[in-house]
Amino acid sequence: MFKRIGILGGGQLGRMLVSSSIPLDMDVWIMENTHDCPSAQVTPNFILGDITNYEDVIRFGENMDIITIEIENVNVEALRQLKEKGKLVYPDPEIIEMIKDKGLQKQYYHKNNLPTSAFTLWNNKADLLTSVENGTLKLPFVQKLRKEGYDGRGVLVVTNREQLKDVFDAPSFTEPLVNIAGEYAVIVARNASKDISVFPVVEQVFHPDANLLDYLISPSALAQHSQEAMQNIAIDIVEKMDFVGIIAIEFFICKNGEILINEAAPRPHNSGHHSIESCNYSQYDMHLRAILDLPLPKIVQHHHAIMKNLVGSQGYTGDVKVEGLTEVLNSESTYLHLYGKKKTKPMRKMGHITFTGKTYEDVLSNYNTFKDTIKIISQ
Ligand code: ADP
Repeated sequence: MFKRIGILGGGQLGRMLVSSSIPLDMDVWIMENTHDCPSAQVTPNFILGDITNYEDVIRFGENMDIITIEIENVNVEALRQLKEKGKLVYPDPEIIEMIKDKGLQKQYYHKNNLPTSAFTLWNNKADLLTSVENGTLKLPFVQKLRKEGYDGRGVLVVTNREQLKDVFDAPSFTEPLVNIAGEYAVIVARNASKDISVFPVVEQVFHPDANLLDYLISPSALAQHSQEAMQNIAIDIVEKMDFVGIIAIEFFICKNGEILINEAAPRPHNSGHHSIESCNYSQYDMHLRAILDLPLPKIVQHHHAIMKNLVGSQGYTGDVKVEGLTEVLNSESTYLHLYGKKKTKPMRKMGHITFTGKTYEDVLSNYNTFKDTIKIISQ
């Protein structure tokens, strides 16, 4: 328990990991390239450094027993080197490298008989367009950048020829446009002793007009057999990867009932924030336990929960001001998290709110009462 843990990345996920490390007195250190980040504010164990830079990651990692991540965009070569020197690196550098590249991820799922849609890799725009012209690639399709896409950036839905001019000119893959009935996520923790603990299935509800995540609800209202099927796929993935740490697997359920893996995030995830208030142990508690090879108790969700991200309001850029605090702080089952970011801009993730309830109906009613109360604007 007293091994020194180094976390690469100082965003809100790092901040919440630090918070979870306190009750068990874990020795957690953070590296990020600015003091002006959510994690630096909550721990003196902060090292300034670039998580994508080989030397910086080596220098940081050399003083740690265990190195982990809160974002995938890290220097994997340095992690390989640290592992070779006998450091414990979780998740394994090869898994981080594979997941960072959505094309390699897709190949992994296919090779390991894990359900995901068919796909084709492309080097550039010209290759893709040639295949459309000669009829080997048919519309509609979805094109995704292999690297560095997030929150929908790097994803293009092409339904008509007019959109072909906008396709990405970079390594990418295409897959069929899925007739999505719903989007779900499952978080699993696994330690080096191979204990596994899985969180309930979360439904990600998207805004009907914008392609924006509106809220997440846990547990989802899906039929039990579908939830178990997704949890079993997530468990299969961590076993096949020999994964240590926490991983979030995102799924589509198609209108025909088929379950497809969309993508994975090998770290704490947006879809697990609610666990802080709604489960016996949070995803942050479980990640730290997993990498320290501590016991992973069964996850019990004691309240229904809805989590809504608080993003910067449109039209406001600058020093943060939070509106609606009093009403929300007066509610007995609404939990506000602000990430300490001093500047807002439209759509920047500034915090989240978890709403809880004894039943599905209770939590929906709580959410509907307060969902628009908090506004992140500028001064
Ligand atoms: P990101 O990593 O940027 O979140 P995703 O692969 O999750 O990218 O895609 C973003 C969103 O685009 C998904 O949540 C889903 O709503 C939609 N989407 C992605 N792939 C498909 C697909 N094959 N068919 C239909 N919609 C898709």
